[in-house]
Amino acid sequence: MWTLDEVLTTAARKYGSREALVTTGRRVTFAELDAAVTRAAAHLQTYGVGRGDKVAIFGRNTISWVVGFLATLRLGGITVPLNHKLAPPELAFILGHSENKVLLADRDLSDGVPASSREKCRVLLLGGNDTLDDVPLFDGPAKRDARWTCASSDVAEILYTSGTTGLPKGCLHSHANVLFAGMASSLAYGLDSTDRVLLAMPVWHSFPLNNLMLGSLYVGATVVMMSEYHPMGMLETIQRERCTLFFGAPVAFLVPLRVVPDFERYDLSSIRTFLYGGGPIDADTSRLLAKRYRTERFFQIFGMTETGPTGTLLRPEEQVAKAGSIGRYAVSGCDVKVMRDTETEAKPGEVGEIWMRCQSMMLGYHRDAEATAAAFHDGWYRTGDVARIDADGYLFIVDRLKDMIITGGENVYSKEVEDALASHPDLVESAVIGIPHPEWGETVAAVLVLKPGATFNEASFHAHCESRLARYKSPRIYHVAETLPRTPSGKVIKVEVRKKYARA
Ligand code: ATP
Ligand code: MG
Repeated sequence: MWTLDEVLTTAARKYGSREALVTTGRRVTFAELDAAVTRAAAHLQTYGVGRGDKVAIFGRNTISWVVGFLATLRLGGITVPLNHKLAPPELAFILGHSENKVLLADRDLSDGVPASSREKCRVLLLGGNDTLDDVPLFDGPAKRDARWTCASSDVAEILYTSGTTGLPKGCLHSHANVLFAGMASSLAYGLDSTDRVLLAMPVWHSFPLNNLMLGSLYVGATVVMMSEYHPMGMLETIQRERCTLFFGAPVAFLVPLRVVPDFERYDLSSIRTFLYGGGPIDADTSRLLAKRYRTERFFQIFGMTETGPTGTLLRPEEQVAKAGSIGRYAVSGCDVKVMRDTETEAKPGEVGEIWMRCQSMMLGYHRDAEATAAAFHDGWYRTGDVARIDADGYLFIVDRLKDMIITGGENVYSKEVEDALASHPDLVESAVIGIPHPEWGETVAAVLVLKPGATFNEASFHAHCESRLARYKSPRIYHVAETLPRTPSGKVIKVEVRKKYARA
């Protein structure tokens, strides 16, 4: 299999004069991208970056981000893409854990890099779309006079998980697995050289990075980057750049319908494919989106940082009939099953843990042999996500295994209780957790965030839940909170909630 650098040099030879990257203010061809990577690699080499050295990247979607990433790979180095929304302590943890030789950081974000981390690696500034550490990316010599080698089995990326269920874990991905994830985009929803992919979601995230950015490099598609998502900006960019494919959380499609008053004025006819992930869309919303965006080509993707993040797919024709499902099959090169226990597969109607095998699977967790060993069973990765299988074999996410509550021997899925609470008129959101109980093992507790002006009425919440859920699932304890703790990507951190409300 090729290294990712061979993917780039091949794209430069095949598609040389075609657009590889487009951002506000700059358009870069595949040949220009290749030359910029050569310049940046020569510069990084002066800081001693070579095969196996780690380079962390902390920035928004810019050309210098992509060039810094590819230049590290050209030198045989290992990239560590970071969430640009990380707070200093979170950043310090990941930088300390990943041990980088160099940190590439956006100028305006570099102040957030803790002093303790600065002492351990060299910080170089990314200059938006034109420079890397003040080296112009598009002028000057770009002769590849040195030959840098690495193997497709070498580690190319350490991608940190969101840290929803504990500390973020660093997933080690080889060039081969990353390339497979990129290829999966062609296999699954037909990404090809005629596509113009809108990258409005952060490029450091595994799906935009591996499936969209590197997938586009593999097939010769153009990537149109927005430095940050903005509802009107998204519509304008699709119209101006004639984008064909867009990826985002469901909310990224829904917000423009609500906040852009002259939505119909935008010409979105170039869009062929919408990809969404992170959560389901119900049947009515699916119909609404198809009507307003004038396409029925919606795919839901389900996966995780560990899997590269290849996984299952809910196809356009299944959107309404199987709304809420993550699909029936995994994409080609990936397999999925639902396990009742480590020996028995769940049958239709049953619930179990999702296990996956795929060619883009991580090699393991960085510096954590114990977690790596615990994550795999007979070559299958135990995802920690619980799903129900319906009569037709479709998977529906029920909860995270770690968030499941066992009370009096009964399993209670926190998400099911949160879904029931969601329709209470006084509620903004809730987090349902198990609290240790001497007799029951655990008891169900709900932490509620109320609407402004609402006063907490326990009897009303109790009646609401009892009419929707079996008695043992209804919360026995309520707490009211101002907000819920979240990861930088917006997921509620149940571990923190449990810590805070552990005592009944
Ligand atoms: P950590 O592993 O550190 O606790 P995390 O699992 O949230 O964090 P990610 O790898 O970013 O980190 O997220 C993957 C998880 O996101 C999946 O395991 C699943 O729980 C959830 N997820 C991904 N896609 C979907 C989807 N389409 N629908 C519902 N949940 C999804
Ligand atoms: Mg996870």
